[in-house]
Amino acid sequence: MDGFTRLGLSSWLIEQCKQLGICKPTPVQENCIPQILEGRDCMGCAKTGSGKTAAFVLPILQKLSEDPFGIFCLVLTPTRELAYQIAEQFRVLGKPLGLKDCIIVGGMDMVAQALELSRKPHIVIATPGRLADHFRSSNTFNIKKIRFLVLDEADRLLEQGCTDFTQDLQVILEAVPVNRQTLLFSATLTDTLQELKTIAMNKPFFWESTSEVRTVEKLEQKYILVPEKVKEAYLVHLIQTFQDEHEDWSIIIFTNTCKNCQIINMMLREFSFPSVALHSMMKQKQRFAALAKFKSSVFKILVATDVAARGLDIPTVQVVINHNTPGLPKIYIHRVGRTARAGKDFCYC
Ligand code: AMP
Repeated sequence: MDGFTRLGLSSWLIEQCKQLGICKPTPVQENCIPQILEGRDCMGCAKTGSGKTAAFVLPILQKLSEDPFGIFCLVLTPTRELAYQIAEQFRVLGKPLGLKDCIIVGGMDMVAQALELSRKPHIVIATPGRLADHFRSSNTFNIKKIRFLVLDEADRLLEQGCTDFTQDLQVILEAVPVNRQTLLFSATLTDTLQELKTIAMNKPFFWESTSEVRTVEKLEQKYILVPEKVKEAYLVHLIQTFQDEHEDWSIIIFTNTCKNCQIINMMLREFSFPSVALHSMMKQKQRFAALAKFKSSVFKILVATDVAARGLDIPTVQVVINHNTPGLPKIYIHRVGRTARAGKDFCYC
């Protein structure tokens, strides 16, 4: 029996997967999809690039096809770019259903979003801040009947860091029904497990990837110790060497602040490197444009803050450079997860 058939997925979905080159379930899909189809809450902890998104998109689409209505599912995610990426997977996999989705993120027109929400899309993919703003300012839609609540990068949504989502999450959690199915996914769930259990209350099925270190095995990891004064010179040298040695190349450089991100990008542009910046102080249109230019290989270097660290599926990155040491191991895991995705044999410096 075909891998996905064994998991209980319908033939139309399996066919759709095949067209996208998704033929064999990954471990997170193998373990979580049957449990989700059975109606259980689920907490999935798997390394980044392991097919986590499809692990919740596929069973949700199957359930939606059995009883289609809007709003059927709400997906919350910490960054705007991730919201677009998740919506894309819903769109391509749910095409035969005539799926209507709606993306609610900051930096975009609120009136247009309110109009879209009032048209009852099947799936809403949102960042918590903007969705909570809609609840605070209008009552033209409600999510009282949703079947599924998904928290992607769930631990980040619950963290109290520089972007604190807790108040916005509270507004949203008060608006969702108690008898929903809750799905929580991330590469790093364990730190916030207790808080997560208050959201997925329905005896959640917990699945964790067994590999001890949650970075991809094929990733080559190097540490370069240099004096602070010559750090930028080394960076330029490193990029130059990589550029000379490889015909097809792309690099992401992670920085700790928006200011540093901007400065490094300007410096690299001075040296005529094809580089773009991505950070949260840029306008949303500029953020999308930067990401699109990088994804299409027009620009080979993306200088980014951790806004780009989680979940972004950029298939051709060969090198991730941490310009600063990430403060937490899990930030490192998310950052280096941008390379060697889906088993590609790329290295990390
Ligand atoms: P994710 O971990 O959700 O960011 O997925 C990483 C990439 O793997 C995406 O481009 C997916 O389309 C792809 N993918 C998801 N599931 C599979 C699968 N079963 N086989 C091959 N590729 C997959």
